[in-house]
Amino acid sequence: MSFRITYSVLEADLSALHAQFDEALAAVRSTLGGELPSWLGGEAFRSGDLLQSRNPARPDELLVSVHRTPVAEVDRVVRVAREAQRGWGATPWQERVRILRRAADLISERRMELSARMTLEVGKSRLESLGDVEESADLLRYYAGQLEQAEGYSRPMARLSPNEDTRSVLRPYGVFVIISPFNFPLALAAGMSGGALLGGNSVILKPSEETPWCAEGLYQALVDAGLPPGVFQVAHGEGEAVGAALVRHPGIDGVSFTGSKAVGMELHRRMSTGRVRPCLLELGGKNPAIVCRDADLEAAIEGCFRSAFGMSGQKCSALSRIYVHESLYNAFTDGLAAKARDARVGDPSLASVFTGPVINAAAVKRFERAVDEARQDGAVIAGGGRPRLEAALEEGHFVEPTVVALSHGHRLMRDELFLPFVGVTRFSTLDEALLRANDCDYGLTAGIFSRDAEDVERFMAQAEAGVLYANRRTGATTGAWPGVQSFCGWKGSGGSGKGGCGPYYVAQFMREQAQTRM
Ligand code: GLU
Repeated sequence: MSFRITYSVLEADLSALHAQFDEALAAVRSTLGGELPSWLGGEAFRSGDLLQSRNPARPDELLVSVHRTPVAEVDRVVRVAREAQRGWGATPWQERVRILRRAADLISERRMELSARMTLEVGKSRLESLGDVEESADLLRYYAGQLEQAEGYSRPMARLSPNEDTRSVLRPYGVFVIISPFNFPLALAAGMSGGALLGGNSVILKPSEETPWCAEGLYQALVDAGLPPGVFQVAHGEGEAVGAALVRHPGIDGVSFTGSKAVGMELHRRMSTGRVRPCLLELGGKNPAIVCRDADLEAAIEGCFRSAFGMSGQKCSALSRIYVHESLYNAFTDGLAAKARDARVGDPSLASVFTGPVINAAAVKRFERAVDEARQDGAVIAGGGRPRLEAALEEGHFVEPTVVALSHGHRLMRDELFLPFVGVTRFSTLDEALLRANDCDYGLTAGIFSRDAEDVERFMAQAEAGVLYANRRTGATTGAWPGVQSFCGWKGSGGSGKGGCGPYYVAQFMREQAQTRM
């Protein structure tokens, strides 16, 4: 399928991009402090029970307050979704494609405003925010292309007798609940919702309670693109409240979730009771990189640095374990530690800042506990504290990019932390490195740095993860893009084996039907 990537950071004049971002930031900042509704049945719903979204770099900056969806409303929301789905599921697939493509174009047109919002709401750097927004538009276009290529998923089958005609068609399930995380607040909400909508399902989106403002951007793009009322609803609130009530409702036909393994496994159990319903899961990682004896040292340091500390380590694909050949260990750790110390931590709305804050105070606490443990059981090589920043950022949720030396079996080398925190350990043979890299419940992404083609091939054949990269200076384990790398978790990282960004995505939101006509 031909597909043109629109990631402007790759080609654009960055100074022009920054000038546009400055302008958008000023415009967005002039609107702070407003209220957002939940969007139920095509109408603004104001419960009066407000959830506040604050800037993690400056928690005293209130961005928006959003009206939570009460648990008592969930039954009505599901009924509306069922009703709206009948019309949407019967809409010709070409029309569904047209609307979703239009939404992608609107996201592209609004990319600066949406990126500025995102930087304020989750603390991503400018370019990371822009990447997230552009990825959202590319995801919608790429998934729309899948429906076009498959001609709406209807194909002729063999005949048992000359006067019969059989087709295999894919049909929508009905109502999908989409639960999206804070770290890619537009791309993951848009990608999962887009897949479900293109497949003819109606969607109830429960976005992360940390990112209602970004979710609003998606809602407006879909509605402005012409999506009929009730086909896409947005229920705001905490996962334990409205999220749990939605997935408990018997009128739900499927769930798509990106987030923690614990919550994902619970959802999986829930969706397998009574009847078997699709539950598409992307559940994080503990992603390793192997730096071999003959690696390009500078490329390995750069690639590992970007993957461990981009977006403050808060990506499912983030690098959190590095296995370094003993002959390179000192040179590699010195180089990585120097880069970590030099990384500019601060207000992510500034062009020069690489690392912004982590998402909230709980993440800072998790960081402090992890550092204490690493000090006790290993060594902190770089970082490990809170950076000293100007007065305006003092209350911000900032932590230093941190490199620690730990043995392979340590808890911090197994559990997902979702922090700018990477463990390094040494190995002597590639067999040993592969064994350790695979000795983990997760299996999302993995990387290798080696100039030896045979070593790279062994890694490709043996690494137990859904996304593999060799010698990737722009990111040892991060940076999958729609239509390029399928984002498919193995083992504890995922459920379906067919990832977002990949060619089989939309079909997962549909069920098969054989239609024979005589
Ligand atoms: N697509 C992103 C990447 O490859 C990660 C998405 C996630 O964290 O869920 O880096």
